[in-house]
Amino acid sequence: MIASGKVVTLHYILRNGEGDIIDQSQSDDPLSYLHGASNIVPGLEIALEGRGVGDEFSVAVEPADGYGDKDQEMLVEIPRSEFGPEEELEVGLEFEVEIDGHPEMATIVEILDDSVIADFNHPLAGEILYFSVSVVDIRDATDSEIEHGHVHGDHDHHH
Ligand code: ZN
Repeated sequence: MIASGKVVTLHYILRNGEGDIIDQSQSDDPLSYLHGASNIVPGLEIALEGRGVGDEFSVAVEPADGYGDKDQEMLVEIPRSEFGPEEELEVGLEFEVEIDGHPEMATIVEILDDSVIADFNHPLAGEILYFSVSVVDIRDATDSEIEHGHVHGDHDHHH
């Protein structure tokens, strides 16, 4: 049964309110995560609590338990001169900027004469997330996985 300290392997499909698939696990590459370590959005983690191998379910996750609400203060005006001269600026363009030493993703949402409006919200902020999930495997996490707060696969890492 899924509880804190378990490594859970699952397949999922994530749809938005229009029913479009936004993300999904590949058939040969299910998602593994450490339960109880905030590796996945809170609403999905809560819905998985107590489930067993073979369980299939759907859950609608509200923004508050997903990627949060859209924050108007995350809309920032940036002068065109901040971009390279050959950069083709258009609505929908995603770009990365460094803020306080951390790379942050933003999306251009409006083009003005001498500047652009960039949205630093998570792309799924404000969206209700519709997950369809099937639980494939559950195992106990190792001590080092619990210490690190994440799953160790066969192909990663390490520090
Ligand atoms: Zn680690």
